[in-house]
Amino acid sequence: MDCIFCKIANGEIPSTTIYEDGDFRVITDINPANLGHCLVIPKAHAANVYELSEELTAKAFVIAKKVAAAVKKATECDGVNILQNNGETAGQTVFHFHIHIIPRLKSDDVKLSFGSFKADSESIAAMGEKIKKSL
Ligand code: 5GP
Ligand code: ZN
Repeated sequence: MDCIFCKIANGEIPSTTIYEDGDFRVITDINPANLGHCLVIPKAHAANVYELSEELTAKAFVIAKKVAAAVKKATECDGVNILQNNGETAGQTVFHFHIHIIPRLKSDDVKLSFGSFKADSESIAAMGEKIKKSL
């Protein structure tokens, strides 16, 4: 399979590596939202969060937490977004699971907006119940 993140995570393609262990590599993003934007990438291929094992998912988010603290310290940013996209509609462009760690500055121009969907409280609660039943 021709997957760029498989090659990067396993060291076949060189990268600026922030952290590495047997299961993960953390690199700087080639096209960063801000300086210091990092990606947590598992070495084993999983296209998205649904395909990643629970064990590796847990480990990925623990690494993301540590990297977020390092990014905050190194960049002296005002905030950090930890973001993980699943599916093209959600903004995923590389179909190998990864977590974004994005430093945020009061002065930056990064756009992440929620809250545009209009729903009444009954629909919100009904969907909550449907999701609950789907767990
Ligand atoms: P997605 O949109 O799938 O959530 O995020 C993919 C991210 O991977 C983007 O932020 C993009 O800039 C980054 N990216 C894509 N190709 C490469 C690459 O070859 N090297 C690095 N370091 N980052 C990449
Ligand atoms: Zn892959």
